[in-house]
Amino acid sequence: MKVLILGVNGFIGHSLVNRILADTDWEIYGMDLDSHRLGASIDSRRFHFIEGDIGINREWIEYHVKKCDVILPLVAIATPKSYVERPLEVFRLDFEENLRVVRQAHQYGKWVVFPSTSEVYGMCPDPEFDEYTSPLVLGPISKSRWIYSCAKQMLDRVISAYGEQGLKYTLFRPFNWIGPKLDAIDVAKEGSSRVVTQFVSDLIFAEPIRLVDGGLQKRCFTYIDDGIDCLMTILKNPGKVFGRIYNIGHPGNECTIKDLAELLLALFKEHPDHTNDPSYSEIVTVASNKFYGDKYQDITTRKPSIEHAAMELGWKPGIPLREALKLTMDSFLAEWKETGGAG
Ligand code: UDP
Repeated sequence: MKVLILGVNGFIGHSLVNRILADTDWEIYGMDLDSHRLGASIDSRRFHFIEGDIGINREWIEYHVKKCDVILPLVAIATPKSYVERPLEVFRLDFEENLRVVRQAHQYGKWVVFPSTSEVYGMCPDPEFDEYTSPLVLGPISKSRWIYSCAKQMLDRVISAYGEQGLKYTLFRPFNWIGPKLDAIDVAKEGSSRVVTQFVSDLIFAEPIRLVDGGLQKRCFTYIDDGIDCLMTILKNPGKVFGRIYNIGHPGNECTIKDLAELLLALFKEHPDHTNDPSYSEIVTVASNKFYGDKYQDITTRKPSIEHAAMELGWKPGIPLREALKLTMDSFLAEWKETGGAG
């Protein structure tokens, strides 16, 4: 099989490349702005990487959509701070650029495996979100936090409508995936990262860990290897998964953001490099409008039903919360030390 991955250097893209190279004989064609996450896989004869921009290198993309069997357009801005600070950029990249790729896949009869998002459920009141029955609930236009959710939802709907005209597609919805190389620690230093990277960065720099509105919001943190297991099962089962949507998350790993902060602090203190630190981060609370500004609205709970993935793919996540956090933190700290940061 020939696989095209746009945004191949991203958190999901680079992990998927590693797994495809390890477990299959597939060929990968990948594009990204950068290659820093790709490591040794970039030397594989089965991985054809080009440095490029989805908005500029359009001919390369069209040529490879034609050439490949399955297309994964993973390019997206996916950090809440960006939704409030750069809504138009989120719309342009996450919606407009990806729409063009989806249309090409339809035109050339190719299978699209598209990253929808758990964010599409927004403030859904269901205790567990179901792909086919749960309502997708967003806030007012003035709260631009929802532009990401709305852009992704619109693409889900467009893809589904193309599906009625013959497009082969599968949508997957990651629920707070975490793991090595999630985001860059120095970016988190500016306070704009996803929560786990943000808290690890706060711990490294002995900055206060800030719980937005007290940190009672809940998320289900899912280790990247579990997510990639599910993605691989999808990729190995074309036909069976056409027209289907899968939540990919670990409902058993649900915790509040406050619990997350306390767990990460405990893991940091246990780490051999930090057991004798003179200063540890304190945990404080901060109002969401002070942290994100007025265009933000939070999501209280976000828990997947994974019945469809379990029944149709035989997939279940296996890595419990503490282990997932420990693996993630250890890799961040090792990388930080390696690059000289720990000094
Ligand atoms: N959050 C927090 N402190 C931070 C960063 C995030 O309390 O320094 C909260 C945020 O308000 C949200 C949750 O952590 O309730 C998860 O945020 P993340 O940025 O990871 O994205 P989300 O899960 O909302 O898409």
